[in-house]
Amino acid sequence: MPRKINIAIDGHSSCGKGTLAKNLAKELDYQFIDSGAMYRAVTLYLMNEDIGLEEVEANPSVLNAIHIEFKLDPMRGFYNTHLNGENVEREIRGMAVSGRVSEVSAIGAVRSFLVAKQQEMGEEKGVVMDGRDIGTVVFPDAELKIFMTALPEVRAKRRYLELKEKGIEANLDEIYQNILQRDKFDSSREISPLMQAPDAIVLNNTEMTREEQTRIALTWAKGVILAG
Ligand code: C5P
Repeated sequence: MPRKINIAIDGHSSCGKGTLAKNLAKELDYQFIDSGAMYRAVTLYLMNEDIGLEEVEANPSVLNAIHIEFKLDPMRGFYNTHLNGENVEREIRGMAVSGRVSEVSAIGAVRSFLVAKQQEMGEEKGVVMDGRDIGTVVFPDAELKIFMTALPEVRAKRRYLELKEKGIEANLDEIYQNILQRDKFDSSREISPLMQAPDAIVLNNTEMTREEQTRIALTWAKGVILAG
């Protein structure tokens, strides 16, 4: 049996980290974890419960009421994010949550709460996790780290088409502005900013198809697994 490794995929908003991570997990028979969905679920919880950010900072134990799970939708073959037992996949992808998630994820208490859960999920290895701080903070020892990027206009177009495909109302310019704003916010926040780990391999996919990216990353992953 080949050894199992953890794969960290970080990068800018909407550059296909999730798609690549999902494809890699499928090919390697690993578990895929979307860490952004966890930040989105916390954001939705705070919005629904009307809990302000100052309140979370003053009393981080309010976060203990949050339970996040990924459950397979057997009919459609993908995982849905569940917040306290409820499927919130659609809601967490909408503009209301997208507009607030960067602020929420800049709070130290939120990050420590989620990083601890993510590290637990990776203890047994065999995980592909995508996010912003996976290679730098969550799994600094990940055997393979990939840092993805692409031109913002290309990313906006892709996200627009993805939302449309899912039947979610979307406006291209609004998405483009949201991407620029999140890039800026995520890269400049004080705690765990979006940063390329020194040992990460860069994958700029502006001009690549999904298949090309998967093929390249899979070659890297297999190389690392066999080298161990
Ligand atoms: O990956 P996605 O775009 O869904 O993530 C939503 C937001 O969650 C990001 O813009 C970022 O603010 C935050 N995030 C984070 N750290 C991660 C994953 C996501 O701060 N590991």
